[in-house]
Amino acid sequence: MALASRLSSRLVRIRERIAHTGRDPAAIKIVAVTKGRPLAACREAIELGLALGENRIQEALPKLEGMAGAEWHLIGHLQTNKVRQAAGRFALIQSVDSERLGEEIARRAPAQPILLQVNVSREAAKQGVPPESAVALARALDRLLDLRGLMGMGPLDGDPEPAFAELARLRADCEQALGRPLPILSMGMTDDFEVALRQGSTMLRLGRALFG
Ligand SMILES: *Cc1c(COP(=O)(O)O)cnc(C)c1O
Repeated sequence: MALASRLSSRLVRIRERIAHTGRDPAAIKIVAVTKGRPLAACREAIELGLALGENRIQEALPKLEGMAGAEWHLIGHLQTNKVRQAAGRFALIQSVDSERLGEEIARRAPAQPILLQVNVSREAAKQGVPPESAVALARALDRLLDLRGLMGMGPLDGDPEPAFAELARLRADCEQALGRPLPILSMGMTDDFEVALRQGSTMLRLGRALFG
């Protein structure tokens, strides 16, 4: 089967699985994670109306050049010395996890939409602010940038549910602290997206589920 029809049939299947969790597939945003995938895969995903997510700025920029009309998200760690290349070029930077990084982005693109990344799985290797610092950082980022919500990942192994439940709770805490809704809760990948949806996810970041 051609790449395009494989991708679209996988997308149909994913939407069925979303519906099975009791959530409305039309209300769940799917970000196609295209790290390590060729331009052809990016184009197919764009044709299906998906946003695209890249981890590394070096890999993302050449892809963005060719497909500037698409909705690109940065979902991987952003070093402060790479901010100049990233600020204002992504529809959403999902990986903001320090005030310093927020300040660097704000100097160049104060209207940049961002998510606050929280290390809810508490794995040392993972990016993200520790859960106990999330509300304070949300207040700081809210003054600097267009803060839209929270992003997090489940643990490498084990039950992802406690991590996702904690991220959902932190989103509610941040909403209360800011006195306004935070519409985006970005959690759920190929192996754990149904659990994430049951915990209130509004945005899935899917690589293997879409591209095999
Ligand atoms: C790679 C990656 C994904 C997608 O992973 P899959 O398991 O292939 O769905 C999602 N989010 C982040 C931050 C990633 O690095």
